[in-house]
Amino acid sequence: MERVEYFDQKVETASRDELAMLQFKKLETLLGKVFVSNPFYKEKFKQHGIHPQDIRHPDDLLKLPFTIKREFEENQEKNPPFGTNLTEPLENYVQYHQTSGTTGKPLKFLDTKESWEWRGKVACHILKGAGVTRGDRILFPFNFGPYTAFWIMYEGAYQLGILIIPTGGWNSLQRLECMIVNKATVIPTTPTYALALADTAKENGIDLTSSSVKSLLLSGEPGALVPQVREKLQRIWGARCFDYIGLTEVGTWGFQCTEEPNGVHILDSEFIAEIVEPGTGLPVPEGETGELILTNLGRACMPSIRYRTGDLVKIKKGLCLCGRTFRVLEGGVLGRKDEMIIIRGVNVFPNVLANVIESYIQPGDNYRIEVYRKRGIDEIAIQLEMKEEGKEEVIPKAIQGEIKTKLNLRIEVETVPKGTLPKSDYKAKRFVDRRK
Ligand SMILES: [Zn+2]
Repeated sequence: MERVEYFDQKVETASRDELAMLQFKKLETLLGKVFVSNPFYKEKFKQHGIHPQDIRHPDDLLKLPFTIKREFEENQEKNPPFGTNLTEPLENYVQYHQTSGTTGKPLKFLDTKESWEWRGKVACHILKGAGVTRGDRILFPFNFGPYTAFWIMYEGAYQLGILIIPTGGWNSLQRLECMIVNKATVIPTTPTYALALADTAKENGIDLTSSSVKSLLLSGEPGALVPQVREKLQRIWGARCFDYIGLTEVGTWGFQCTEEPNGVHILDSEFIAEIVEPGTGLPVPEGETGELILTNLGRACMPSIRYRTGDLVKIKKGLCLCGRTFRVLEGGVLGRKDEMIIIRGVNVFPNVLANVIESYIQPGDNYRIEVYRKRGIDEIAIQLEMKEEGKEEVIPKAIQGEIKTKLNLRIEVETVPKGTLPKSDYKAKRFVDRRK
């Protein structure tokens, strides 16, 4: 085992009881500020009859109401441009970000200097988790838009004292050349762009495996947590892959360590994570799948308290080999609660199927996952459109076989003639629900 890097070893290896106390102390500080000067939460707590004195013990967290995205959206619509979830006077805020708005209107989020530094600290945990250390060189192959993901990694790298190489505004080849010449060792990127960079490298005779890059920090879509994607990226880059997971609404809450390739640590020192049954909102028994609820503890200026992420997750039993006591989510985010389908008693997520399919098909191939109802029973069928001829039997069989092994479920997979399926770049559009 290589040496495990920690950002704050004492906290990261504290006992679960110590972590619970730390979380509660931070929650008290947060609520202390929010009850005084956050109009959004003051109103919300008033409506639910919650007073500061009701929260005296860690379990009292359950008395607080959930927050859903729609509330933030409505609040900002009614109180433009930033809404009323602001604990401090407007002039104290120094950073602006927004969500992409793929599932609604973009949400705006502001940070003060203090909360921005906290977000950087969160990124330090992620970087150290992936074994990044002083002496590393981190290259950002992105334009820095209004989305937080790469900005917070930038802040984290800055706090850790790592050489930062920005390459926004350049094309892939320029970025690759810069990466080689300056011996970059760490690249934050999306899995898709990591593959695109690899294509450009190949076209230009650049051998990535002999480059100095040792780690890819992946976000935006599942990468390192999908074994086939991870193996592919590791093979062509000759580098290790780590996913980190976040939401603009709460911050980056999940990261991978060097010892557990199939799970994500929850950053338990900076977030309170609960896992609840989506229907009742009550905690699920340990080890069962439920919806992830997050409270960020370092962002009192614009907090998210008991925020319903809609993501379904499952806690892995036991401690991680890295020595951290932060809990591990098996397989990261398993799917979205509104996407889960029950087929013959088995919980199925379209993105799990999509990941299996995408590990077998080639660029330019297309597919569709269809749910339908047959004699009152839900069924799934997969249609494949393949550019190259000759594999119309082998590939569907292989996909079917892997789904059977993974989910213990037999799903129909068939090839259809070219041009049958609508073209789409989004996974979501490749999933069709015909039951409605
Ligand atoms: Zn670990």
